[in-house]
Amino acid sequence: MRRKLVSGNWKMNGSLATLAELDGIAAAAAAAPNIDVSIAVPFTLIHPAALRVPGLAIGAEDVHDEDAGAHTGCVSAGMVREAGAVFTIAGHSERRADQGENSHDAWAKAAAARRNGLSVILCCGETEAERNAGRAERIVQAQIEKSVPENATADWLTLAYEPRWAIGTGRTPTLDEIAAIHAIAREKLRMMIGDCAADVRILYGGSVVGENAAAILSTENVDGALVGGASLTAAKFVPVIEAAA
Ligand code: 13P
Repeated sequence: MRRKLVSGNWKMNGSLATLAELDGIAAAAAAAPNIDVSIAVPFTLIHPAALRVPGLAIGAEDVHDEDAGAHTGCVSAGMVREAGAVFTIAGHSERRADQGENSHDAWAKAAAARRNGLSVILCCGETEAERNAGRAERIVQAQIEKSVPENATADWLTLAYEPRWAIGTGRTPTLDEIAAIHAIAREKLRMMIGDCAADVRILYGGSVVGENAAAILSTENVDGALVGGASLTAAKFVPVIEAAA
C-alpha cells in the first residue's frame, strides 16, 4: 500500500517572512497522519524552515551531482542535508528548460542525493509540442530510462510526472491522460527495477490546486501531488493536503 505524498515546491519564491506559512502547513500535515507532506524551498530557506517546523519534511529543489569541488555557485547534496533537508527534487522541467539539464544530469543528481542520505523526487514530463505530436508516452519512458538510478528503491525514490505545458498554466491533462502516463511510468519502472516498482510513489504535478486535487489524487497510480504555486501559502496548500488525507 503506497502512502500518498503531497509535496510543495516553492521554486524561486519565498523569504524568511513567508516561512510563517509553514506553520499552518505543518499543522495540516500533523492532522493528516495517514499521508506524507513535504516541501522543497530555495537553498537559503532550508535551514530556517527546518528549524521552524521540525515536523515537516523540508527539501531542496536541486543539488549538484558532485559532493564537493570547484563549482562556483553550486550546492551539494551533503550541504543541503547538513542544512536540514531530507530530500531533493531532481530533473525538474524548469531546470531542463532554464539550465539545459537533461535526464542524464537528473540521474547523476539523484545518485548524489542518495549517496548523501537524501530521498529524491525525480521529475519527468513532455512539452506541449511533444504531446501534440503523440509522443508524450515515449518521451516519459525515455526520461525514466535515462534518469532512474539502477539501484533505486521505493525507500528513497519518488517519481513525479509533470507535463511542462500544465505547469503554472491552470491547464491539466484529463484524468484518463494522467492515468495512462502513470501506468506507463510504473511499467517502465518495473522493467528497470523489478517488483519494487509497485511500491514507488508516482506523483502528478502541474496546476494542482484545492479544487482539482481530490479528482487527480483518486486517479489510478497517482500517489500524490507535486505542487508549485498552490504551495506558497497555507490557505492554498492546506486544501490540497486535506484532499489527499
Ligand atoms: P504549479 O503547481 O505552479 O503548476 O507547478 C508545478 C510544479 O512545477 C511543481 O514542481
